[in-house]
Amino acid sequence: MSFEKLNEDVIESGLCTGCGACAYVCPTNAISITKKPRLTGRCEGCGTCIESCYIFKGETSNSLDRLKIFAAYSKIEEAKKKGQDGGVVTTILTSLLNKDMIDCAAVVVGNNKDRPNVNLARSIEEIFEASGTKYGTAPIISVLDELDKNERVAMVGTPCQIKALRSLMKNNSKYRESIKYLIGLFCMKNFDFNRLFKGKISGEDIKLEDIEKCDIDKGVFQVFLINGKKIEFNLNELKGCVRNSCNYCSDFEAELADISVGSVASEGGYSTIIIRSSNGLEAFDVSKESLNFVSLNQEDISIVDKLTSLKKDDNV
Ligand SMILES: Cc1cc2nc3c(=O)[nH]c(=O)nc-3n(C[C@H](O)[C@H](O)[C@H](O)COP(=O)(O)OP(=O)(O)OC[C@H]3O[C@@H](n4cnc5c(N)ncnc54)[C@H](O)[C@@H]3O)c2cc1C
Ligand code: SF4
Ligand code: SF4
Ligand code: SF4
Repeated sequence: MSFEKLNEDVIESGLCTGCGACAYVCPTNAISITKKPRLTGRCEGCGTCIESCYIFKGETSNSLDRLKIFAAYSKIEEAKKKGQDGGVVTTILTSLLNKDMIDCAAVVVGNNKDRPNVNLARSIEEIFEASGTKYGTAPIISVLDELDKNERVAMVGTPCQIKALRSLMKNNSKYRESIKYLIGLFCMKNFDFNRLFKGKISGEDIKLEDIEKCDIDKGVFQVFLINGKKIEFNLNELKGCVRNSCNYCSDFEAELADISVGSVASEGGYSTIIIRSSNGLEAFDVSKESLNFVSLNQEDISIVDKLTSLKKDDNV
């Protein structure tokens, strides 16, 4: 089977999440990926790209294991200030690096002006640089190419990216050895970067270089400008900017991650954290001295449950 089959069944049909696995595994480096995978080299028809694609293989297995769930924010001033919510993801990554439990972290960097990009952060400064949510996707799996032999990495990603990584790890011991921790982000929907920023937001006369931060709160997409102004878009207005694959996605809380982090269910300035595995507990243990945490009551937790069910009912 050749790239043509993957192109027809997954990419052109709009199911591709842009995870980057197919491009990463191609032995002839024939696939390039920015917005979506394209054949830019010679395809030898080996079928490896198809075997690496969890969408093609129809791998939908989810798990709702939750060992612990609570809310927290970082005691590290810079992580709290630059973080999207409580700066928890940044704090977990810096703690893992400081305690020599990883050599690097795969993170997504961006500034709302240019398409988000992946970086293999090997220093605390590089991890801080990636703080905050970037709306748009980056093919995080492609960063595995940059790993040196025996390097241990923590990967951060949206639920679809975590699923793609679990699939790679299941089928190849090389990835199981190098990928030590998977940190997933809650995700209801993501956007096509160009359609959202270069199309819709620029179209409202907002200069992209004036944007400090974007966020979603209660169905409203908020654009915070450097001058202190806030511009809001109802999510219904942005339907045309949503990535096609998000309309078929049924995982809200990154069910296959070791730790999932999001904003819903906790107060502003806190992140909601779900620990899902023994690896997750290990990562949390080395990070907890840098976090202030509070428990969540059943009513708070039911907000996560509700969104999880909503996404499954809508998209299964
Ligand atoms: C596209 C998207 C949609 C989201 N939707 C929701 C939602 O509906 N409800 C909800 O509760 N939470 C959602 N989140 C999660 C939320 O925005 C925060 O990322 C989460 O609460 C962690 O905050 P933090 O302050 O602990 O993270 P920080 O300390 O700020 O760290 C953020 C980390 O996220 C990584 N990252 C940023 N952008 C991306 C990206 N595009 N792809 C992969 N990794 C990225 C960075 O590498 C960084 O390490 C979404 C996140 C993304 C990326
Ligand atoms: S050479 Fe193999 S992995 Fe690369 S595009 Fe062709 S079928 Fe896919
Ligand atoms: S979902 Fe991932 S592996 Fe499948 S075609 Fe898209 S980028 Fe390639
Ligand atoms: S909605 Fe699903 S497919 Fe879209 S970015 Fe989020 S996890 Fe990925």
